[in-house]
Order: sequence, then C-alpha cells, then structure tokens
Amino acid sequence: MTTRPFIVGNWKMHGTRSMLSEARAIDRAAERLIKVEVALAPPFTLIHAVHKEAGLIAVGAQDCHPADGGAHTGDVSAIMVKDAGASFTIVGHSERRAGYGETNALVKAKAEAAIAAGMSVIVCVGETEDDRAAGKHVDVVTRQLKGSLPDSDGAAERITVAYEPVWAIGTGNTATTDDIAAMHAAIRAKLVALYGEVGEAIRILYGGSVNAGNAAEILTTPDVGGALVGGASLTAESFLGIIVAAAERDEA
Ligand code: PEP
Repeated sequence: MTTRPFIVGNWKMHGTRSMLSEARAIDRAAERLIKVEVALAPPFTLIHAVHKEAGLIAVGAQDCHPADGGAHTGDVSAIMVKDAGASFTIVGHSERRAGYGETNALVKAKAEAAIAAGMSVIVCVGETEDDRAAGKHVDVVTRQLKGSLPDSDGAAERITVAYEPVWAIGTGNTATTDDIAAMHAAIRAKLVALYGEVGEAIRILYGGSVNAGNAAEILTTPDVGGALVGGASLTAESFLGIIVAAAERDEA
C-alpha cells in the first residue's frame, strides 16, 4: 500500500463544464508532483468529463446509492459512477449525514457497494462542536468507524478514512495539530482493532478548512496521510498550494 500523501479535492455542488480548465491545470501539475497522489471528486455531472480531461489524477464521486439500480429517483449507484470513470467514492460526508439523515448503517452499505463495484472508498467521520465540548469526540468518532466501515478484511486495502470535525468544515477553523494527532491515534487504534495488521496501513486524511497556508503544518502531524479539501480545491491555484506542501512534506 502506498505511503504517498493523498490530497483529495471535494468540489461539493460546485462546477459546470467551465471548471474543466481547473481540473486540467491540476492534472498537469500532478504530473510534476509525483510524490503526491492527487484526486478530485467533482459533482456526478462532471465525473466523466474530468476523467476524460485529466488523465493522471484519480476521479471520484462524492456519494453513491447502496443498490446497484432500481426505482430510486434522483440517485446514482456505485456501478454507475464507476462506469462514468470514478475509481473511488466518498461516503458519509458530514453534509450528507446531517442534511439527509444518513446513518452509520447506510454509510456502511454505500461503502460496501463501492467496493463491490471495484472502487475504493473514502469514509468520512467527525464530531460536532457539541460532541467535542462534552468531551465525547473520540467516542463519537469511534462509534462512527465501527458502524460505517465495511466488515470484510479484504475491503481494508480499499479504504481511506477522512477525519473531518464538523465544526471545521467550511468555517476557516481548523483543529489544532495536537487535537488532530490525538484523534488520528484513536482512529488508528480502532482500525487495527477492526482489521488487524492491515489497519496499520489504512490512510487517515484530515479535512476541515485546509488551505495552502496551513497545509504544511497539518500534513506533518503524526499519522496524517493527506487531506480532504473542500473550498480550497475549487481553483487550481489554491489546490496546488496544498499539493506542493504535500510534496515537500518528506523533505522537511
Ligand atoms: C469538505 O467538504 O470535506 C471540507 C473539508 O471542506 P473545507 O475544506 O471547505 O472545510
């Protein structure tokens, strides 16, 4: 399993074909920055086009339905996003857990569908501000992991975990590096408890207001295997600052 830092842009509900030039520019830069694994998760409507335009970076979906197909108006299955060019999908993002009432069980079903379709999966977990204030953050995240991660050992090699404190997403507030290190250590312990030795190699990304200014510090925090980036992934210029920081990480 690779140890290259993994930098993933989540475009959320942003982007029409006019944004393909940003994807192309990110792809061209990734060609030079081979120490970093770069990926973009555009909206469903752009997966195929980004896959065609940007040949080097991985392209993924932001969500998928757990069923292969059927009467699910407006939904898109894992098989469909794979067919469109996705090699991974994000599941369990806090905006889906909060906005659509997604439970751990549903997130797990989506993760298993993605793996069954031949993709890898980024499973998001993270506590709310209230959870942290009540001192329950590790407990909450540990329960999310137990409930959301696929069961089988064989799945572990296709899993990335993204720790995204809900209060840090899109707010400009990042967790301190001590808090990130403590949570990533707790996540690592849970991954090993769930998957044994394979759990040691699962990458844990941090997400929550990562930008070019704070990326170097976050990416050198113990057990941070990369970043899941929202707002700062929307332009090549801001995203590249993070990718460059990741490329320089092992030289620091
Ligand atoms: C995200 O949406 O996963 C995210 C981390 O967003 P932002 O970087 O904008 O906080």
